[in-house]
Amino acid sequence: MIADRPRDLWFELDSEERQIIGALRDFLQAEVAPTATERDQTGAFPFEIVKKLGEMGVMGAQVPEQYGGAGLSTRVFARIIEEIAAVDGALALTVASHNSLCTGHILLAGNEQQKRQFLPRLASGEVLGAWGLTEPGSGSDAAAMRTKAEETASGWVLNGSKQFITQGSVAGVYVVNARTDAAPSEEKKHLGLSAVVFEAPIAGLRIGRKEKKLGLNASDTAQLIFEDIHLPKEALLGERGKGFYDVMKVLEGGRIGIAAMAVGLGRAAMEFAAKYALEREQFGRPIAEFQAVSHKLADMATELEAARLLYLKAAELRDAGRPFGQAAAQAKLFASEAGVRACDEAIQILGGYGYIQEYPVERYWRDARLTRIGEGTSEVLKVIIAKNLLAQYR
Ligand SMILES: Cc1cc2nc3c(=O)[nH]c(=O)nc-3n(C[C@H](O)[C@H](O)[C@H](O)COP(=O)(O)OP(=O)(O)OC[C@H]3O[C@@H](n4cnc5c(N)ncnc54)[C@H](O)[C@@H]3O)c2cc1C
Repeated sequence: MIADRPRDLWFELDSEERQIIGALRDFLQAEVAPTATERDQTGAFPFEIVKKLGEMGVMGAQVPEQYGGAGLSTRVFARIIEEIAAVDGALALTVASHNSLCTGHILLAGNEQQKRQFLPRLASGEVLGAWGLTEPGSGSDAAAMRTKAEETASGWVLNGSKQFITQGSVAGVYVVNARTDAAPSEEKKHLGLSAVVFEAPIAGLRIGRKEKKLGLNASDTAQLIFEDIHLPKEALLGERGKGFYDVMKVLEGGRIGIAAMAVGLGRAAMEFAAKYALEREQFGRPIAEFQAVSHKLADMATELEAARLLYLKAAELRDAGRPFGQAAAQAKLFASEAGVRACDEAIQILGGYGYIQEYPVERYWRDARLTRIGEGTSEVLKVIIAKNLLAQYR
Protein backbone atom coordinates (compact mmCIF):
# COMPACT_ATOMS: atom_id res chain seq x y z
CA MET A 1 0.00 0.00 0.00
CA ILE A 2 1.47 3.37 -1.02
CA ALA A 3 0.63 6.11 1.49
CA ASP A 4 -0.73 9.34 0.05
CA ARG A 5 1.57 12.01 1.39
CA PRO A 6 3.39 14.93 -0.22
CA ARG A 7 6.97 14.66 -1.36
CA ASP A 8 8.97 16.33 1.34
CA LEU A 9 12.33 14.66 0.76
CA TRP A 10 14.13 14.83 -2.59
CA PHE A 11 14.19 11.08 -3.10
CA GLU A 12 10.49 10.61 -2.44
CA LEU A 13 7.68 10.71 -4.96
CA ASP A 14 4.96 13.33 -4.63
CA SER A 15 1.35 12.26 -4.29
CA GLU A 16 0.64 12.40 -8.05
CA GLU A 17 3.73 10.33 -8.78
CA ARG A 18 2.71 7.86 -6.08
CA GLN A 19 -0.60 7.41 -7.84
CA ILE A 20 1.18 6.62 -11.10
CA ILE A 21 3.42 4.05 -9.44
CA GLY A 22 0.52 2.64 -7.42
CA ALA A 23 -1.61 2.11 -10.54
CA LEU A 24 1.36 0.50 -12.30
CA ARG A 25 1.96 -1.86 -9.38
CA ASP A 26 -1.68 -2.95 -9.44
CA PHE A 27 -1.46 -3.60 -13.19
CA LEU A 28 1.81 -5.52 -12.85
CA GLN A 29 0.47 -7.72 -10.06
CA ALA A 30 -2.76 -8.45 -11.91
CA GLU A 31 -1.58 -8.81 -15.50
CA VAL A 32 2.18 -9.36 -15.63
CA ALA A 33 3.28 -11.28 -12.52
CA PRO A 34 1.09 -14.36 -13.09
CA THR A 35 2.63 -15.08 -16.50
CA ALA A 36 6.23 -13.82 -16.11
CA THR A 37 7.73 -17.24 -15.38
CA GLU A 38 5.86 -18.83 -18.28
CA ARG A 39 7.13 -16.13 -20.67
CA ASP A 40 10.67 -16.72 -19.40
CA GLN A 41 10.27 -20.37 -20.36
CA THR A 42 8.59 -19.90 -23.74
CA GLY A 43 10.26 -16.64 -24.77
CA ALA A 44 6.89 -15.35 -26.01
CA PHE A 45 7.00 -11.62 -26.62
CA PRO A 46 4.29 -9.83 -24.57
CA PHE A 47 2.62 -7.77 -27.32
CA GLU A 48 -0.67 -7.45 -25.41
CA ILE A 49 1.03 -6.25 -22.22
CA VAL A 50 3.08 -3.71 -24.18
CA LYS A 51 -0.12 -2.43 -25.78
CA LYS A 52 -1.70 -1.93 -22.36
CA LEU A 53 1.44 -0.23 -21.04
CA GLY A 54 1.12 2.07 -24.06
CA GLU A 55 -2.42 2.97 -23.01
CA MET A 56 -1.09 3.74 -19.51
CA GLY A 57 1.52 6.16 -20.91
CA VAL A 58 4.49 3.95 -20.03
CA MET A 59 5.73 3.53 -23.62
CA GLY A 60 6.09 7.28 -24.02
CA ALA A 61 6.93 8.06 -20.42
CA GLN A 62 9.26 10.97 -21.14
CA VAL A 63 7.83 12.07 -24.46
CA PRO A 64 6.25 15.53 -24.07
CA GLU A 65 2.46 15.59 -24.13
CA GLN A 66 2.45 17.55 -27.41
CA TYR A 67 3.82 14.41 -29.12
CA GLY A 68 1.40 12.09 -27.37
CA GLY A 69 3.59 11.11 -24.42
CA ALA A 70 3.12 11.22 -20.66
CA GLY A 71 5.77 13.93 -20.13
CA LEU A 72 7.07 12.32 -16.94
CA SER A 73 10.34 13.15 -15.22
CA THR A 74 13.38 10.88 -15.41
CA ARG A 75 12.93 10.21 -11.69
CA VAL A 76 9.46 8.76 -12.21
CA PHE A 77 10.49 6.92 -15.36
CA ALA A 78 13.31 5.21 -13.47
CA ARG A 79 10.91 4.24 -10.69
CA ILE A 80 8.62 2.76 -13.33
CA ILE A 81 11.48 0.62 -14.63
CA GLU A 82 12.33 -0.53 -11.08
CA GLU A 83 8.71 -1.59 -10.52
CA ILE A 84 8.47 -3.48 -13.81
CA ALA A 85 11.83 -5.20 -13.23
CA ALA A 86 10.72 -6.36 -9.78
CA VAL A 87 8.05 -8.40 -11.57
CA ASP A 88 9.43 -9.12 -15.05
CA GLY A 89 13.01 -8.26 -16.02
CA ALA A 90 12.47 -8.94 -19.72
CA LEU A 91 9.57 -6.50 -19.85
CA ALA A 92 11.69 -3.93 -18.00
CA LEU A 93 14.40 -4.18 -20.67
CA THR A 94 11.79 -3.84 -23.43
CA VAL A 95 10.30 -0.71 -21.87
CA ALA A 96 13.66 0.79 -20.90
CA SER A 97 15.28 0.35 -24.31
CA HIS A 98 12.20 1.47 -26.25
CA ASN A 99 11.96 4.66 -24.19
CA SER A 100 15.59 5.55 -23.57
CA LEU A 101 17.32 4.42 -26.75
CA CYS A 102 15.16 4.66 -29.89
CA THR A 103 12.61 7.17 -28.58
CA GLY A 104 15.28 8.93 -26.51
CA HIS A 105 17.51 9.44 -29.57
CA ILE A 106 14.62 10.94 -31.59
CA LEU A 107 13.71 13.19 -28.65
CA LEU A 108 17.33 14.31 -28.29
CA ALA A 109 18.31 14.85 -31.90
CA GLY A 110 15.15 14.78 -34.02
CA ASN A 111 13.88 17.83 -35.87
CA GLU A 112 10.26 18.90 -35.52
CA GLN A 113 9.11 16.89 -38.52
CA GLN A 114 10.79 13.71 -37.27
CA LYS A 115 9.33 14.16 -33.80
CA ARG A 116 5.84 14.55 -35.26
CA GLN A 117 6.31 11.60 -37.58
CA PHE A 118 7.67 9.05 -35.10
CA LEU A 119 6.99 10.01 -31.49
CA PRO A 120 3.18 9.70 -31.23
CA ARG A 121 3.12 6.09 -32.41
CA LEU A 122 6.15 5.16 -30.29
CA ALA A 123 4.62 6.84 -27.26
CA SER A 124 1.27 5.08 -27.62
CA GLY A 125 2.98 1.69 -27.96
CA GLU A 126 1.45 1.25 -31.42
CA VAL A 127 4.97 0.58 -32.68
CA LEU A 128 8.10 -0.48 -30.82
CA GLY A 129 11.45 1.19 -31.28
CA ALA A 130 14.85 -0.45 -31.81
CA TRP A 131 18.26 1.23 -31.58
CA GLY A 132 21.28 -0.14 -33.39
CA LEU A 133 24.79 0.66 -32.21
CA THR A 134 26.54 -2.65 -31.50
CA GLU A 135 27.96 -4.68 -34.40
CA PRO A 136 29.58 -8.10 -34.62
CA GLY A 137 33.03 -6.48 -34.53
CA SER A 138 32.35 -3.41 -32.39
CA GLY A 139 30.76 -3.33 -28.93
CA SER A 140 32.47 -1.22 -26.28
CA ASP A 141 34.56 0.36 -29.05
CA ALA A 142 31.39 1.60 -30.76
CA ALA A 143 33.19 4.13 -32.98
CA ALA A 144 34.82 1.21 -34.81
CA MET A 145 31.45 0.41 -36.43
CA ARG A 146 31.45 -0.60 -40.12
CA THR A 147 27.83 0.02 -41.07
CA LYS A 148 27.76 2.75 -43.69
CA ALA A 149 25.17 5.26 -44.86
CA GLU A 150 26.43 6.60 -48.19
CA GLU A 151 25.03 9.80 -49.58
CA THR A 152 23.29 9.65 -52.96
CA ALA A 153 21.51 12.26 -55.06
CA SER A 154 18.22 11.44 -53.35
CA GLY A 155 19.34 10.55 -49.82
CA TRP A 156 21.24 7.63 -48.26
CA VAL A 157 21.99 4.00 -48.92
CA LEU A 158 22.49 1.94 -45.78
CA ASN A 159 24.66 -1.20 -45.72
CA GLY A 160 26.04 -3.26 -42.86
CA SER A 161 24.74 -5.12 -39.82
CA LYS A 162 23.96 -4.69 -36.14
CA GLN A 163 24.23 -7.23 -33.36
CA PHE A 164 22.17 -7.93 -30.19
CA ILE A 165 19.48 -5.37 -30.99
CA THR A 166 16.65 -5.24 -28.48
CA GLN A 167 13.27 -5.24 -30.30
CA GLY A 168 15.32 -6.12 -33.40
CA SER A 169 12.65 -8.39 -34.88
CA VAL A 170 9.53 -6.73 -33.46
CA ALA A 171 10.15 -3.01 -33.98
CA GLY A 172 8.34 -0.63 -36.31
CA VAL A 173 10.85 2.23 -35.99
CA TYR A 174 14.62 1.80 -36.23
CA VAL A 175 17.33 4.26 -35.29
CA VAL A 176 20.63 3.05 -36.76
CA ASN A 177 24.05 4.53 -36.15
CA ALA A 178 26.33 4.41 -39.17
CA ARG A 179 29.41 5.94 -40.74
CA THR A 180 28.50 8.69 -43.20
CA ASP A 181 31.94 10.29 -43.56
CA ALA A 182 35.51 9.06 -43.39
CA ALA A 183 37.20 9.43 -40.02
CA PRO A 184 40.01 12.03 -40.02
CA SER A 185 42.28 9.52 -38.20
CA GLU A 186 42.16 6.34 -36.09
CA GLU A 187 42.23 8.46 -32.89
CA LYS A 188 39.33 10.53 -34.18
CA LYS A 189 37.22 7.70 -35.51
CA HIS A 190 34.30 8.93 -33.42
CA LEU A 191 33.96 11.70 -36.04
CA GLY A 192 32.05 11.01 -39.25
CA LEU A 193 29.32 8.97 -37.60
CA SER A 194 25.62 9.81 -37.93
CA ALA A 195 22.24 8.32 -37.11
CA VAL A 196 19.39 7.53 -39.49
CA VAL A 197 15.79 6.77 -38.62
CA PHE A 198 13.32 4.75 -40.68
CA GLU A 199 10.21 2.64 -40.45
CA ALA A 200 9.74 -1.06 -41.13
CA PRO A 201 8.90 -2.84 -43.28
CA ILE A 202 11.44 -1.44 -45.73
CA ALA A 203 13.21 -3.04 -48.68
CA GLY A 204 16.70 -4.19 -47.75
CA LEU A 205 16.10 -4.74 -44.02
CA ARG A 206 16.67 -8.35 -43.09
CA ILE A 207 16.20 -9.70 -39.58
CA GLY A 208 19.02 -12.11 -38.88
CA ARG A 209 19.43 -14.52 -35.99
CA LYS A 210 17.12 -14.15 -33.01
CA GLU A 211 19.41 -14.76 -30.06
CA LYS A 212 18.86 -17.43 -27.42
CA LYS A 213 19.97 -15.90 -24.15
CA LEU A 214 20.90 -16.67 -20.55
CA GLY A 215 17.93 -14.62 -19.35
CA LEU A 216 15.51 -11.86 -20.35
CA ASN A 217 14.03 -14.51 -22.61
CA ALA A 218 10.81 -12.66 -23.33
CA SER A 219 12.71 -9.62 -24.59
CA ASP A 220 13.55 -9.66 -28.28
CA THR A 221 17.23 -9.66 -29.25
CA ALA A 222 18.11 -9.94 -32.93
CA GLN A 223 20.72 -9.29 -35.55
CA LEU A 224 19.86 -6.70 -38.21
CA ILE A 225 21.22 -6.83 -41.75
CA PHE A 226 21.02 -3.83 -44.06
CA GLU A 227 21.31 -4.53 -47.76
CA ASP A 228 21.09 -1.36 -49.86
CA ILE A 229 18.33 0.26 -47.82
CA HIS A 230 17.38 3.44 -49.70
CA LEU A 231 16.49 6.28 -47.34
CA PRO A 232 15.42 9.84 -48.10
CA LYS A 233 17.62 12.80 -47.08
CA GLU A 234 15.19 13.44 -44.22
CA ALA A 235 16.21 10.15 -42.58
CA LEU A 236 19.32 11.79 -41.12
CA LEU A 237 18.78 12.13 -37.36
CA GLY A 238 20.85 14.86 -35.75
CA GLU A 239 23.92 16.61 -37.10
CA ARG A 240 25.84 14.79 -39.83
CA GLY A 241 29.19 13.46 -38.63
CA LYS A 242 28.54 14.33 -34.96
CA GLY A 243 26.34 11.35 -34.19
CA PHE A 244 28.78 9.86 -31.71
CA TYR A 245 28.13 12.70 -29.28
CA ASP A 246 24.40 11.97 -29.45
CA VAL A 247 25.09 8.26 -28.90
CA MET A 248 26.99 9.08 -25.72
CA LYS A 249 24.13 11.26 -24.46
CA VAL A 250 21.54 8.61 -25.31
CA LEU A 251 23.57 6.00 -23.41
CA GLU A 252 23.97 8.31 -20.40
CA GLY A 253 20.17 8.53 -20.16
CA GLY A 254 19.77 4.81 -20.79
CA ARG A 255 22.11 3.92 -17.93
CA ILE A 256 19.70 5.39 -15.39
CA GLY A 257 17.03 2.96 -16.61
CA ILE A 258 19.39 -0.02 -16.51
CA ALA A 259 20.45 0.92 -12.96
CA ALA A 260 16.78 1.03 -11.94
CA MET A 261 16.22 -2.34 -13.63
CA ALA A 262 19.05 -3.86 -11.59
CA VAL A 263 17.59 -2.45 -8.37
CA GLY A 264 14.15 -3.86 -9.22
CA LEU A 265 15.48 -7.35 -9.87
CA GLY A 266 17.68 -7.25 -6.74
CA ARG A 267 14.72 -6.05 -4.70
CA ALA A 268 12.50 -8.87 -5.94
CA ALA A 269 15.19 -11.40 -5.03
CA MET A 270 15.71 -9.84 -1.60
CA GLU A 271 11.99 -9.80 -0.80
CA PHE A 272 11.59 -13.41 -1.85
CA ALA A 273 14.63 -14.47 0.17
CA ALA A 274 13.50 -12.58 3.29
CA LYS A 275 10.07 -14.25 3.29
CA TYR A 276 11.64 -17.62 2.60
CA ALA A 277 14.17 -17.20 5.43
CA LEU A 278 11.38 -16.54 7.91
CA GLU A 279 9.53 -19.71 6.88
CA ARG A 280 12.28 -22.20 6.18
CA GLU A 281 13.38 -24.05 9.30
CA GLN A 282 16.64 -25.90 9.83
CA PHE A 283 18.09 -27.06 13.14
CA GLY A 284 14.71 -26.31 14.73
CA ARG A 285 14.42 -22.64 13.86
CA PRO A 286 13.83 -20.28 10.94
CA ILE A 287 17.04 -19.80 8.96
CA ALA A 288 16.49 -16.01 9.28
CA GLU A 289 17.67 -16.44 12.87
CA PHE A 290 21.12 -17.52 11.72
CA GLN A 291 23.32 -14.46 11.56
CA ALA A 292 25.02 -15.74 8.40
CA VAL A 293 21.64 -15.50 6.68
CA SER A 294 20.31 -12.27 8.22
CA HIS A 295 23.57 -10.44 7.48
CA LYS A 296 23.21 -11.33 3.82
CA LEU A 297 19.77 -9.71 3.87
CA ALA A 298 21.21 -6.66 5.65
CA ASP A 299 23.87 -6.27 2.95
CA MET A 300 21.32 -6.68 0.17
CA ALA A 301 18.97 -4.08 1.67
CA THR A 302 21.75 -1.58 2.24
CA GLU A 303 23.39 -1.96 -1.16
CA LEU A 304 20.08 -1.78 -3.02
CA GLU A 305 19.06 1.34 -1.11
CA ALA A 306 22.41 2.95 -1.97
CA ALA A 307 21.94 1.93 -5.61
CA ARG A 308 18.46 3.45 -5.69
CA LEU A 309 19.77 6.73 -4.28
CA LEU A 310 22.50 6.79 -6.92
CA TYR A 311 20.06 6.34 -9.81
CA LEU A 312 17.69 8.88 -8.29
CA LYS A 313 20.54 11.36 -8.00
CA ALA A 314 21.42 10.89 -11.68
CA ALA A 315 17.74 11.25 -12.59
CA GLU A 316 17.34 14.38 -10.48
CA LEU A 317 20.40 15.97 -12.15
CA ARG A 318 19.05 15.10 -15.59
CA ASP A 319 15.61 16.53 -14.78
CA ALA A 320 17.28 19.74 -13.56
CA GLY A 321 19.14 20.07 -16.88
CA ARG A 322 22.50 19.59 -15.20
CA PRO A 323 25.35 17.31 -16.38
CA PHE A 324 24.54 13.78 -15.22
CA GLY A 325 26.90 11.50 -17.18
CA GLN A 326 29.19 10.73 -14.25
CA ALA A 327 26.28 10.16 -11.87
CA ALA A 328 24.55 7.88 -14.40
CA ALA A 329 27.74 5.86 -14.96
CA GLN A 330 28.26 5.49 -11.20
CA ALA A 331 24.62 4.55 -10.66
CA LYS A 332 24.69 1.92 -13.40
CA LEU A 333 28.03 0.48 -12.26
CA PHE A 334 27.03 0.23 -8.60
CA ALA A 335 23.40 -0.81 -9.13
CA SER A 336 24.20 -3.57 -11.63
CA GLU A 337 26.87 -5.05 -9.39
CA ALA A 338 24.65 -4.73 -6.29
CA GLY A 339 21.61 -6.11 -8.13
CA VAL A 340 23.44 -9.20 -9.36
CA ARG A 341 25.01 -9.71 -5.90
CA ALA A 342 21.56 -9.53 -4.28
CA CYS A 343 20.16 -12.11 -6.70
CA ASP A 344 23.16 -14.35 -6.15
CA GLU A 345 22.83 -14.19 -2.35
CA ALA A 346 19.09 -14.80 -2.62
CA ILE A 347 19.88 -18.07 -4.42
CA GLN A 348 22.26 -18.90 -1.55
CA ILE A 349 19.60 -18.21 1.08
CA LEU A 350 17.18 -20.53 -0.70
CA GLY A 351 19.87 -23.21 -0.93
CA GLY A 352 18.94 -25.94 -3.41
CA TYR A 353 15.53 -24.35 -3.93
CA GLY A 354 17.29 -21.24 -5.19
CA TYR A 355 18.84 -23.23 -8.00
CA ILE A 356 15.69 -24.78 -9.38
CA GLN A 357 13.14 -23.18 -11.68
CA GLU A 358 10.16 -23.67 -9.38
CA TYR A 359 11.27 -20.55 -7.51
CA PRO A 360 11.82 -17.24 -9.30
CA VAL A 361 15.19 -16.20 -7.86
CA GLU A 362 17.26 -18.04 -10.48
CA ARG A 363 15.30 -16.09 -13.13
CA TYR A 364 16.03 -12.83 -11.32
CA TRP A 365 19.75 -13.66 -11.35
CA ARG A 366 19.75 -14.61 -15.04
CA ASP A 367 17.85 -11.44 -15.92
CA ALA A 368 19.99 -9.16 -13.73
CA ARG A 369 23.22 -10.48 -15.23
CA LEU A 370 22.69 -8.43 -18.40
CA THR A 371 22.76 -5.16 -16.44
CA ARG A 372 26.53 -5.53 -15.94
CA ILE A 373 26.98 -5.75 -19.72
CA GLY A 374 24.43 -3.69 -21.69
CA GLU A 375 24.79 0.08 -22.28
CA GLY A 376 28.38 0.08 -21.01
CA THR A 377 30.02 -2.88 -19.29
CA SER A 378 31.14 -2.43 -15.69
CA GLU A 379 34.75 -2.33 -16.91
CA VAL A 380 34.04 0.40 -19.45
CA LEU A 381 32.04 2.40 -16.91
CA LYS A 382 35.07 2.35 -14.60
CA VAL A 383 37.16 3.73 -17.47
CA ILE A 384 34.64 6.56 -17.93
CA ILE A 385 34.30 7.31 -14.20
CA ALA A 386 38.07 7.35 -13.66
CA LYS A 387 38.61 9.56 -16.73
CA ASN A 388 36.08 12.10 -15.42
CA LEU A 389 37.62 11.95 -11.96
CA LEU A 390 41.21 12.36 -13.12
CA ALA A 391 40.25 15.26 -15.39
CA GLN A 392 39.52 17.27 -12.24
CA TYR A 393 43.07 16.88 -10.96
CA ARG A 394 45.15 17.20 -14.12
C1 LIG B 1 20.41 -8.82 -24.19
C2 LIG B 1 21.21 -7.75 -24.88
C3 LIG B 1 20.56 -6.64 -25.38
C4 LIG B 1 21.28 -5.65 -26.07
N1 LIG B 1 20.61 -4.61 -26.65
C5 LIG B 1 21.30 -3.74 -27.45
C6 LIG B 1 20.60 -2.76 -28.22
O1 LIG B 1 19.37 -2.63 -28.15
N2 LIG B 1 21.33 -1.96 -29.05
C7 LIG B 1 22.68 -2.06 -29.16
O2 LIG B 1 23.27 -1.32 -29.93
N3 LIG B 1 23.36 -2.99 -28.44
C8 LIG B 1 22.71 -3.84 -27.60
N4 LIG B 1 23.39 -4.79 -26.88
C9 LIG B 1 24.84 -4.86 -26.98
C10 LIG B 1 25.55 -4.45 -25.71
O3 LIG B 1 25.41 -3.06 -25.51
C11 LIG B 1 27.01 -4.90 -25.86
O4 LIG B 1 27.01 -6.29 -25.69
C12 LIG B 1 27.93 -4.24 -24.85
O5 LIG B 1 28.08 -2.88 -25.14
C13 LIG B 1 29.34 -4.89 -24.84
O6 LIG B 1 29.84 -5.01 -26.13
P1 LIG B 1 30.41 -6.45 -26.61
O7 LIG B 1 29.36 -7.46 -26.30
O8 LIG B 1 30.84 -6.34 -28.02
O9 LIG B 1 31.63 -6.72 -25.67
P2 LIG B 1 33.15 -6.19 -25.88
O10 LIG B 1 33.15 -4.73 -26.10
O11 LIG B 1 33.83 -7.07 -26.88
O12 LIG B 1 33.76 -6.48 -24.45
C14 LIG B 1 34.24 -7.76 -24.05
C15 LIG B 1 34.93 -7.61 -22.67
O13 LIG B 1 36.04 -6.69 -22.82
C16 LIG B 1 35.92 -5.65 -21.87
N5 LIG B 1 36.43 -4.39 -22.42
C17 LIG B 1 36.20 -3.85 -23.65
N6 LIG B 1 36.80 -2.68 -23.78
C18 LIG B 1 37.44 -2.43 -22.60
C19 LIG B 1 38.22 -1.36 -22.09
N7 LIG B 1 38.49 -0.28 -22.81
N8 LIG B 1 38.71 -1.46 -20.82
C20 LIG B 1 38.43 -2.56 -20.06
N9 LIG B 1 37.69 -3.59 -20.48
C21 LIG B 1 37.20 -3.54 -21.74
C22 LIG B 1 34.43 -5.56 -21.59
O14 LIG B 1 34.17 -4.94 -20.33
C23 LIG B 1 34.02 -7.02 -21.61
O15 LIG B 1 34.27 -7.60 -20.36
C24 LIG B 1 22.69 -5.77 -26.17
C25 LIG B 1 23.35 -6.88 -25.62
C26 LIG B 1 22.62 -7.87 -24.99
C27 LIG B 1 23.36 -9.07 -24.45
